[in-house]
Amino acid sequence: MREITLGKTGITTPQNAFGALPIQRVDKDTAVIILRKAYDGGMTYFDTARAYTDSEEKLGLAFEGMREKIYIASKTMADTPEKLREDLDTSLRLLKTDHIDVYQLHCVPQCYRPDDGTGMYEAMLEAKKQGKILHIGITAHKIGVAEDIVASGLYETLQFPFSYLASDRDIALVKACEDAGMGFVAMKGLSGGLLTNSEACMAYMSEYPVLPIWGIQRECELDEWLSFFERDIVMTDELRSFIENDRKELLGEFCRGCGYCMPCSVNIVINQCARMSQMIRRAPSKAWLSDYWKKEMLRIDECIDCGLCKTRCPYELDIPNLLRKNAADYKDILAGRVIP
Ligand code: SF4
Ligand code: SF4
Repeated sequence: MREITLGKTGITTPQNAFGALPIQRVDKDTAVIILRKAYDGGMTYFDTARAYTDSEEKLGLAFEGMREKIYIASKTMADTPEKLREDLDTSLRLLKTDHIDVYQLHCVPQCYRPDDGTGMYEAMLEAKKQGKILHIGITAHKIGVAEDIVASGLYETLQFPFSYLASDRDIALVKACEDAGMGFVAMKGLSGGLLTNSEACMAYMSEYPVLPIWGIQRECELDEWLSFFERDIVMTDELRSFIENDRKELLGEFCRGCGYCMPCSVNIVINQCARMSQMIRRAPSKAWLSDYWKKEMLRIDECIDCGLCKTRCPYELDIPNLLRKNAADYKDILAGRVIP
């Protein structure tokens, strides 16, 4: 397994890391089993966030007594220094540790800078001085914000969506991070569940100086990622042509399932309904045609075009139209006019 050093932080870890958002959805005992198995299987970098409900607590339970063997990255969505300090203390308590290796400002709307009047960057510096955090990181979803962050030279790591659907601009961002001595942490390596060939995803990552954090909820998913510690995955002609075909099929406006646009004013489950056409074809399951999803998809007809969701989508998608396209396709599938 190739190792990655996250820029000037000096953190070196296998290029195969654990994203701890999905373990919110399993009970504590199961989460602890999965996290310990991930470590035993070779993973040493674990990424969580204050916003992931009890994910930090589960990491704390799993790794108590072996803190120095792993790297912990967490995040805060605070927008004031007071809230940041409060979040950080809560994270430290739940993680059962006195320091976080990489502490990130989470999904920022802008690049926080010293003297910008928010006090956010100063609060991160203070936490670093106190030893509560070792490195200052940041996460963003908008390419313009991410480019601004890299150009600022203020952050040690950047976390940004990166998968084999990356654009030339995304790839240039990775290069800019490398040139700036910043670590690049790749989130959404499966593009929110749309990409299902883990070998292709891993092979793609192996071609770039990035650290993928795979969101893992089930032991069977973990086993797939851990298997790459046993057999190195490299890019082959076969995988390259698979990726090329998949890119042709998917590039353009598509929903990554992140959920940042929610809640919807009329409670449409946007992060699933806006990508139903793809999910139904790429991750087929009878469950998508259940009464539950029929009802949720019908709710799209109730969209009042308030536009709220559009202001929150980091990918600037035209969500109401995307939803309507998905609803029309879904109705065609249900009526047998289209075979998915
Ligand atoms: S525009 Fe439609 S989908 Fe978006 S928040 Fe408003 S009602 Fe919901
Ligand atoms: S519409 Fe945008 S914000 Fe909402 S889930 Fe999809 S990608 Fe995320």
